[in-house]
Amino acid sequence: MNRQYHAATVETQAQTWWQEHHTFAVADDGPGDKFYCLSMFPYPSGALHMGHVRNYTIGDVLARYQTMQGRRVLQPMGWDAFGMPAENAAIQRGIAPSRWTYDNIDHMRTQLQRLGFAYDWRREIATCRPEYYRWEQWLFTRLLKKGLAYRRLAAVNWDPVDQTVLANEQVIDGRGWRSGALVERREIPQWFLRITDYADELLAGLDELDWPEPVKTMQRNWIGRSVGIELSFEVPGYGPLKVYTTRPDTLYGATYMAVAADHPLARQVAAADSGLASAIDALKPRETSEAAMQTQDKLGVDTGLRAVHPLTGAQLPVWVANFVLMDYGEGAIMAVPGHDQRDWEFARQYRLPITPVVAPAGFDGDPASLVAHAAFTDKGLLINSGPYDGLEFQAAFDAIADLAEARGTGARRVQYRLRDWGVSRQRYWGCPIPVIHCEACGPVAVPDEQLPVVLPEDVTVDGSGSPLTRMPQFYQTTCPDCGRPARRETDTFDTFFESSWYFARFSCPDLDSAMLDGRANSWLPVDQYVGGIEHAILHLLYARFFTKLMRDEGLVQVDEPFTRLLTQGMVLKDGSKMSKSKGNTVDPQALIDRYGADTARLFTIFAAPPDQALEWSDEGVAGANRFLKRLWGFAADFIVWREGAPTGDAGALDADQRAVRRELHERLSQASYDFARSQFNTIVSAGMKMLNEMSRLAVPTGADGAGYRAVVDEGLSILLRLLAPIVPHITHVLWAQLGHDGAILHAGWPQVDPAALERAQIALAVQVGGKLRGTVCVSADADHDAICAAALAEPNVQRFVGAGAVRKVIVVPGKLVNIVV
Ligand SMILES: [Zn+2]
Repeated sequence: MNRQYHAATVETQAQTWWQEHHTFAVADDGPGDKFYCLSMFPYPSGALHMGHVRNYTIGDVLARYQTMQGRRVLQPMGWDAFGMPAENAAIQRGIAPSRWTYDNIDHMRTQLQRLGFAYDWRREIATCRPEYYRWEQWLFTRLLKKGLAYRRLAAVNWDPVDQTVLANEQVIDGRGWRSGALVERREIPQWFLRITDYADELLAGLDELDWPEPVKTMQRNWIGRSVGIELSFEVPGYGPLKVYTTRPDTLYGATYMAVAADHPLARQVAAADSGLASAIDALKPRETSEAAMQTQDKLGVDTGLRAVHPLTGAQLPVWVANFVLMDYGEGAIMAVPGHDQRDWEFARQYRLPITPVVAPAGFDGDPASLVAHAAFTDKGLLINSGPYDGLEFQAAFDAIADLAEARGTGARRVQYRLRDWGVSRQRYWGCPIPVIHCEACGPVAVPDEQLPVVLPEDVTVDGSGSPLTRMPQFYQTTCPDCGRPARRETDTFDTFFESSWYFARFSCPDLDSAMLDGRANSWLPVDQYVGGIEHAILHLLYARFFTKLMRDEGLVQVDEPFTRLLTQGMVLKDGSKMSKSKGNTVDPQALIDRYGADTARLFTIFAAPPDQALEWSDEGVAGANRFLKRLWGFAADFIVWREGAPTGDAGALDADQRAVRRELHERLSQASYDFARSQFNTIVSAGMKMLNEMSRLAVPTGADGAGYRAVVDEGLSILLRLLAPIVPHITHVLWAQLGHDGAILHAGWPQVDPAALERAQIALAVQVGGKLRGTVCVSADADHDAICAAALAEPNVQRFVGAGAVRKVIVVPGKLVNIVV
């Protein structure tokens, strides 16, 4: 065997073996517990980046480790293939988005295969294939029938020059990314899924999940359950104005009201006064992104109307303000500038009164000072609140809610921040929404027998809206209900639609008669999901929602899709995230070409714990490669040496060999623990120490090699199996070279031998007052107290110590004990 490690040869050899033996093709049933290990599937952007390599290496380590634990592991891979980058690339290169996408898939599949990931490629999915998306079209028609999908007007960003709808990320500083024109906000009919019906269940289910706490917190905040009260303020000349507040304890601090520019009250005022109408029109939101809304200047106009405060009877001016949105709450607020920062800023701008009505317990200063520089937003005790003064938050909440309910002017209400999910996109490269619009019947679901609605792939995209709207052969159709001419929906689904159920489809990707079958129940839930924290909210929330939709449709039995989640850290270079725009990327292909897949894998695993940021280091890569060369060289030497050596004899170990064997088993014990808690980087250091230990043993010659052979045979078999999930190629090949039968992947996890952990006894000289008085035998790992006790118990030592007090015991480790009397 060649003493030089040649990665490309080794890796081809291992991969060919895996391919020939269908090593990663997992059966849907059979012996062993199932384990479903899934990494978030990639968007086929063109080529793998280091973030992919890290994500998929972590997933593969977990999958291979579970296989070695005897589990039946499903690890599939596919492509989240719809999305805007394909349209942009198509515009730039003048090719169809489908062609760009399929070419990228082919290239990236080759890259993934080169990295040796243990994927069951028979299950590969590309979400842009009709055999995949037909089933989400089918599910959507079911949701339509249940009323869980519905259509309503919703705002979009409209580019008046390109005559097209823009995604939020295509709006830059309020202008279209291509045309540079000022973006307009337009309302058009769009499809929504009623995710808010599941808000409570989505919130409660989080408690049961083994997910990183920050991810669960982000989801909780996104769902945003709050308990508040709905209150009506009478507005003479308009009627009752409804608001919702989670802080009824601040009711006495309400000094003005504010409504959205498209609130019915604002429309009424605008209709009656053309001067106010143009002022109100200027306050209408221009963009749809919430972030853009929050950073804008707070502007408003006084309508002249007055609302009556339900408790004090005070006249509160009613303003139209640009920071109040019709989509949120009631589209109207009671403004409490003393205790809400947004209301405070607006009040300052327009010189409206700011009244403090909550103070911290024990506060005895001037209440005006509490709100002089900013709103006081903490909870506290009520002041300036008539009969409620001195009450704390909950008591005030209850008293005011009780009163409002008794008077019929308000009621307690639970509210969510979560909105229904708008799934319509006015884009081409997505799954067609299976609806036909008929003038007589309205929107009609495409019947099952007409599914799938296939997206035409041979198109030209020029950036001026979706080509579907210019293809009569696509949109001209007949109504399934009445048979009259009708128009097919040309919007496509949000691409989060496809990624919301792909994990279930991997269980039965070949099924052509239904969305899912019983195999989904045998594989779900995903036991371990791996992906980036940037998906903490939308993807993970929609996937949880879809699981509940599929459960309620009788397709799956689980409530939650992903039992355990690992969010891997970012890949940094020179301290910042690798990105094309910063120009600090490293091409993984160059890394693989130069060093091989195992080095790339070893570096990404060794450089940081999976959930922490990883700093790229050329030196670290070179170091990982050096370790693999040393491992290969050591094993090769041992194999050559072994040819003329006696049979191994575990009973023939000398002290050095016993000590090395103990080290090996101690490291194994620690590494097995680290595997269970996904701390893979320390496993690599354990492996490095194991190799060091074995390397320092003297290599015997002639007939006395039985002990050495026993230790190194066992040591290599432990070390290779420990590293096999991380560097699968080199360990696979060395395993075979060492004469083991079958693949290392199926060799089973090495077990710690408790007998190997027992430490030898060592002899220590015992002095009393500097003179040798005896010898004691103690365990090599005995601590200070145990050594003192043993020394003082020695009969001759006892004689010299006598009845005198022991002033001090000095232990020189491994050598002697000196007792000072
Ligand atoms: Zn019809």
